[in-house]
Amino acid sequence: MSDGILTPTQAQLVERLEDELRVKRGSLPVVGKKERYGFTMVNGVTVLIKRTSRQPRGGFIVPSLYSYTEIGSISNLDAAAHANELFDRQDPVRVGRYGHRGPIIGLDWKCGKDCCRDEPYKRRVERSLGFVPSQLDGELAKTGE
Ligand SMILES: [Zn+2]
Repeated sequence: MSDGILTPTQAQLVERLEDELRVKRGSLPVVGKKERYGFTMVNGVTVLIKRTSRQPRGGFIVPSLYSYTEIGSISNLDAAAHANELFDRQDPVRVGRYGHRGPIIGLDWKCGKDCCRDEPYKRRVERSLGFVPSQLDGELAKTGE
């Protein structure tokens, strides 16, 4: 995980997730980075790596899921490790303001389905993260959105 894309903290988080999944270090791909979130894939579902985490099992976001509470009180790490099972259980009809109908979220924050296709950039970020980051990285200016 020494590709220079992720911060040292993010690289540690990826290793923690790899340990949780019981896969070899370096198994999870680094798809890229946007708005300071690292993008990786766990069993066909996009998982975001936060820059910091104060929780021992925190530091991850599954952008396609609209809620973690549906499946009980689980940690970010649990959600990340079981992202595909949780996504498969999610009712696509109930995807509203948050979450996506597709499991793979691109660096453009789109999943390829109709939930986010026509939304402006900032809204897609919010849909994926569950909130709007205080500082977006300049994409708004670049795209004019
Ligand atoms: Zn979408």
